[in-house]
Amino acid sequence: ASASQVRTFDGDGRTADGHRVELLANIGAPGDAAQAAAAGAQGVGLFRTEFVYLDRDEAPTPDEQVADYRAVLAAFPGRKVVIRTLDAGADKPLPFLAGAPEANPALGVRGLRTAVAHPEVLDAQLRAIAAAAAAESADVWVMAPMVSTVDEAQEFVERCARHGLSTAGVMVEVPSAALLADRVLAHAAFASIGTNDLTQYTMAADRLLGSVAGLSDAWQPAVLRLVAETCRGGAQQGRPVGVCGEAAAVPALAVVLVGLGVSSLSMTPRALADVAAVLASTTLDECRRLAALALAASSARDARETVRAALPVLA
Ligand code: PEP
Ligand code: MG
Repeated sequence: ASASQVRTFDGDGRTADGHRVELLANIGAPGDAAQAAAAGAQGVGLFRTEFVYLDRDEAPTPDEQVADYRAVLAAFPGRKVVIRTLDAGADKPLPFLAGAPEANPALGVRGLRTAVAHPEVLDAQLRAIAAAAAAESADVWVMAPMVSTVDEAQEFVERCARHGLSTAGVMVEVPSAALLADRVLAHAAFASIGTNDLTQYTMAADRLLGSVAGLSDAWQPAVLRLVAETCRGGAQQGRPVGVCGEAAAVPALAVVLVGLGVSSLSMTPRALADVAAVLASTTLDECRRLAALALAASSARDARETVRAALPVLA
């Protein structure tokens, strides 16, 4: 965007007809929280806690974790902060949680699977989150990465409850969780769709591999259909569904996600203003109509071009 197109953002996400969409920030360090709040984020939709401890040989101490989580919560008094439990493995190995070498790390022990293999590390993290939540006024939500079964969702939610963490949800980033979202959300309080991994696993295309980047595209109608299915499950169970993958930061795609039924979008703070602007220029009915067109497209390119052409604000 040129200087004349720089958008301002007042912290309030709405469609042109006033339908609210929560616009939240993705952060990866305690120090990011204040900047995210200054950029107008209404809260944090994804705190990638594993980023804080990537270079550690030893697990972080309880005091250290409490201090890190409190720093984030303190930047958002009274606001929603979604803390993701450690998403270790695959592209984000944590030395203190390293397992046996794997031929296919993206399909191996990562995310919640790592936590299940090291329950003492997950319990220590949940204890620290609960302590931080008790000391600050933010509305703390906890979610697990890489959930693939209903049982995993149920066990995670029960474990959070044992630590007094009552708003426990799951990321939907594996097609199995999207397909069974109605049952997953019978247990989980909310779902947050990780479109980066959901695209990787739906298209069988490594998200880090440039040679398959054409397939690694959240505009793929197959990915959008899984988003729609997740939203259907959320509506059926009366649970909110958000998106915290990079797709939420793409204005035309944000419109489609809202049209599919997503109620919050979490993104890098610098994308907030542009996403807010496109939503403010589009009614909820238009979002739904564009979502239907994107779902009906037979390629990612058709979906993207059809939606972009219908959004004059992006021209
Ligand atoms: C995702 O997969 O879309 C996501 C938000 O998680 P991460 O990018 O940290 O894997
Ligand atoms: Mg992910």
